[in-house]
Amino acid sequence: MYGFVNRDIKSSVYKAVSKFLVENCDEDWRKMPANSASFNLMFGERNKLPFGRLGHEPGLFQLVNYYRGSDMICRKTAMIRVFKEELKRRPGMFPKWLPMSFIICPKKISENAKQMGEASVAAMRKVARPDDRQELVETDAALVQQEKKRIVWIAKSAAGAKGEGIKISQDVDELIAFIDTQAQGFIVQKYILNPFLLDGDRKFDIRCWVLLDSNYNVYFFKEGVLRTASESYKPENYNDVTSHLTNHCLQKELSANFGEYETGNELFFDEFNSYLKKKTRMTMDNTIIPQIKEIIKKVLLMIKDRISTNMLGYGSFQLFGFDFLLDSQLQVHLIEINGAPACAQKLLPDLARCIVQTAIDPIFKPKSAKGRGDNWFSKI
Ligand code: ADP
Ligand code: MG
Ligand code: MG
Ligand code: MG
Repeated sequence: MYGFVNRDIKSSVYKAVSKFLVENCDEDWRKMPANSASFNLMFGERNKLPFGRLGHEPGLFQLVNYYRGSDMICRKTAMIRVFKEELKRRPGMFPKWLPMSFIICPKKISENAKQMGEASVAAMRKVARPDDRQELVETDAALVQQEKKRIVWIAKSAAGAKGEGIKISQDVDELIAFIDTQAQGFIVQKYILNPFLLDGDRKFDIRCWVLLDSNYNVYFFKEGVLRTASESYKPENYNDVTSHLTNHCLQKELSANFGEYETGNELFFDEFNSYLKKKTRMTMDNTIIPQIKEIIKKVLLMIKDRISTNMLGYGSFQLFGFDFLLDSQLQVHLIEINGAPACAQKLLPDLARCIVQTAIDPIFKPKSAKGRGDNWFSKI
């Protein structure tokens, strides 16, 4: 008999995984009180993971649902820093699927720190490190020369989510001035101006679920979702939030047409595939999914040495939400990676079951195959 604890009470995904274990695995698994220490499996609280205390009990192998250090690709500034460091180590072109990006640290942080006294100056110093503002200004000027038109940039905060605090502008000085009044680091990224538009009119982004198991195998979930805008794309008005930002919560809150075109502004892969075939004669499988898989593999391999639990006394696995944009040429661009993704309601039971089958069953062999089924995760 194995024991698991669920401390990840905010996660709907791990609630569903716990439910699966309780309902289907009573011969193998028992749910232990959240504060137990002698568990085999922990669904931990994302920001309070006791990594240092795992794997010390002789004879007890412990598995946890996050990788220590995975924030280096899940925070927007950290992800850009990782890519730039990688580029220094292995010079070559910046990957064409990552929009050109610069890290900007607000000046305000260092000024506030000075006012607050020496201790906080030290505390803040690591935030107020030199940033890419000079490079951004120079790059913008060079691109304007080259392309004979103004360049559009999008500023996004390091830990921001749900489309909050995002600003789109053609004026880099304005963006830098805006960031200087903020309290956290930002990235300024080249805005993708030519997204593929549904019905020639509406923008969307693509969410894929990716599972990394404790042996660092990467798995791709076959079902994914397009999150659509329910307002027309307005390339001339960057302040029109619902036309440019496809976040589900923003659309729901701010668009009068929410749900008008797709139920809950969600379009699943098979539905989009039919649409794509009709419009372009291309399919998801022959154009889009291969690009997506390539990007996922490259990103996770890039940080493997730094986060792998291979040599440690415990194991990690993690579910990631990779978000992409598709442009009018059907090129895929990486937008962001979520380290604790939610899941479309319709897919949740299958996702939970497949997490158990892929990341948990191989480590803690079940006595029976109760509740198991088709595995929607395939190794990439
Ligand atoms: P958040 O964590 O707030 O969701 P994202 O990076 O996902 O931040 O950006 C929010 C939305 O803004 C995306 O879903 C997408 O619609 C749009 N967006 C983000 N980056 C770009 C970009 N470089 N070009 C065009 N649109 C973008
Ligand atoms: Mg996000
Ligand atoms: Mg997101
Ligand atoms: Mg997002």
